[in-house]
Amino acid sequence: MKKNISVVGSGFSGAVIARELANAGHNVAVYDSRENIGGNCYTERDITTDVMVHKYGPHIFHTSDEHVWSYVQQFDEFVPYINRVKSIYNGRVYSLPINLMTINAFFGKTLSPKEAKEYIQSIGERSIENPQTFEEQALRFVGRELYEAFFKGYTIKQWGLHPSELSANILKRLPVRFNYDDNYYASKYQGIPRNGFTHVIQNILDHPRIEVKLSTIFLRDEAEKYDHVFYSGPIDAWFNYSEGRLGYRTLDFIVERHQGDYQGNAVINYGNEEVPWTRISEHKHFAPWESHEETLIYKEYSRQCGEKDIPYYPIRLVSDKTLLSRYVEKANKEKKVTFVGRLGTYRYLDMHVSIAEALNTAESFLNCQETDKEM
Ligand code: UDP
Repeated sequence: MKKNISVVGSGFSGAVIARELANAGHNVAVYDSRENIGGNCYTERDITTDVMVHKYGPHIFHTSDEHVWSYVQQFDEFVPYINRVKSIYNGRVYSLPINLMTINAFFGKTLSPKEAKEYIQSIGERSIENPQTFEEQALRFVGRELYEAFFKGYTIKQWGLHPSELSANILKRLPVRFNYDDNYYASKYQGIPRNGFTHVIQNILDHPRIEVKLSTIFLRDEAEKYDHVFYSGPIDAWFNYSEGRLGYRTLDFIVERHQGDYQGNAVINYGNEEVPWTRISEHKHFAPWESHEETLIYKEYSRQCGEKDIPYYPIRLVSDKTLLSRYVEKANKEKKVTFVGRLGTYRYLDMHVSIAEALNTAESFLNCQETDKEM
């Protein structure tokens, strides 16, 4: 039976669920409080430079999931792109993630892969047997000098916390390589949509059974009008912050426009704590197939997210997780609402994970409808 569904949020999670349900014959209303679709993946052309800007910070699509990769290709051409990040520390430029180039440049050596592995093992603090924190994990695996150059200052700026207060898990996102492979991601597929992420999401939402309502706040009372709600907004906001607020980091971007090429690379991180920004992104380098005489850069600053700010990174301190479990308990009692995505589940999700989860959520919902029909 045809259902009336509402989806709150038009980032990848909301858009993919909306599309899958519309494809299956349901009517879907997508609400977004912003005046544009796409959530934090939103891209637009800068009027002055014509550069495609990743308005809420750099997004590079990468996945090893064949299904997700073929799914996104339906909505734009993904031009192959390799994210090669540099890091500046004490006035010198290094390659990230830590690889043989980084190790040899940093220590002024010409080590082979085998020698580098042995060397890094010899400087790693092996006495830390069971690393629990970000700091312990880093000290054990790369030793104090590399930790201080590439992780400590950056992480203090990014999270507003000392690495000894953060979980070892965060560091597990970053590999250490004993060859010259400087591809930031280890995923099988990597690319940037030729026409920007907004275009991809626009195409996902382009379906006769999907209606998009922008600049519209979805009020809880409105849930009554729908058979089901998929909510990708902040889980604590849905419950009116009854248990307290979950902690997030927000980002500020200082935008500058220059002539020519500003830094010669899309992303350069800054390891020194004294440099106030975490990284500088030069957006035209995310689209190397385009040519622009002018350039636009974002200096990125991270800080505690206030009530009026846009939430970016869930901090997930122990106190946040306790709060989250209370919200999840409440969420489980909501029979007509499914909480999805980064804000709905309070997890830091890459785009490909949001898409994979959204496809699964939609499939489970549709399977339940089938079962109901049979009964
Ligand atoms: N990180 C770091 N130094 C760097 C880059 C990252 O210490 O130069 C740490 C930092 O704590 C960061 C985490 O690794 O939050 C994950 O980094 P990633 O580049 O995956 O973050 P994103 O691009 O998603 O912000």
